[in-house]
Amino acid sequence: MITTADETLLRRAIGLAARAVTLGDAPYGSLLAGPNGEILAEAHNTVRRDDDITAHPELKLARWAARELDPATAARTTMYTSCQPCGMCEGALVRSGLGRVVYALATEQLVELDPRSGDRPTVAQDGPALFDEARAPIDAYRRP
Ligand SMILES: [Zn+2]
Repeated sequence: MITTADETLLRRAIGLAARAVTLGDAPYGSLLAGPNGEILAEAHNTVRRDDDITAHPELKLARWAARELDPATAARTTMYTSCQPCGMCEGALVRSGLGRVVYALATEQLVELDPRSGDRPTVAQDGPALFDEARAPIDAYRRP
């Protein structure tokens, strides 16, 4: 459930998205609010400026949270973001330990507003293969 307090922080994330546009980047912004609603960190998209395909605000903040927050604090921290996280960012969010994500636009809404944002080719993947060889580093890592 999205509360009035959530909406206030979402508006701030939308403001960060607007700022990204004024700086020449894609319109995405995000922030982290700690257990008491305090803003811990903010980011916006810098894919063009940094020439970095991974410079999504959600990914930058997920990395920040995993690095800077203890697990208990991360679990009680919420990400507010102007659009639903993409698959790349969702993967980082799962690993970050953050407890909750609140977004404004769903991916389907974003694609309807800007069809280019949904234009992603798929990458062919082949496997599995070489099980016995590939498991050796896994076994070495698992050994105490
Ligand atoms: Zn993303």
